[in-house]
Amino acid sequence: MDCIFCKIANKEIPADLIYEDENVVAFNDLNPTAPVHLLVIPKKHYSSLNDIDEEKVFGQIFSAIPKITKKLGIKEYRTVVNTGKSAGQSVFHIHVHVLSGREFTWPAG
Ligand code: AMP
Repeated sequence: MDCIFCKIANKEIPADLIYEDENVVAFNDLNPTAPVHLLVIPKKHYSSLNDIDEEKVFGQIFSAIPKITKKLGIKEYRTVVNTGKSAGQSVFHIHVHVLSGREFTWPAG
């Protein structure tokens, strides 16, 4: 499958990896929009949130996040999952953005 995030998870293309376990990898976003901007992905391919058919995947992703932020010394951060083109999704392998290091406004743009 021609998926850039699968290739990152499989180490076929390089990325700035900051965390890895059996099910999940996290790496710095190529075009950061905050001083800390990383992406957490399951190693298994799911195009979007709509395609996750195993509840355990949510646990795998979200339980990794506090481990990563703790390691980075971050206590406050925003997590974002864009689902579908109109919501801003541009890479169709589900990923959670973890953003920190500046003030964020709400509602999101
Ligand atoms: P989204 O628009 O929610 O689908 O987010 C996709 C994110 O992936 C964007 O923030 C991109 O900057 C980021 N991105 C795309 N390709 C790469 C890559 N090869 N390595 C790291 N981040 C990437």
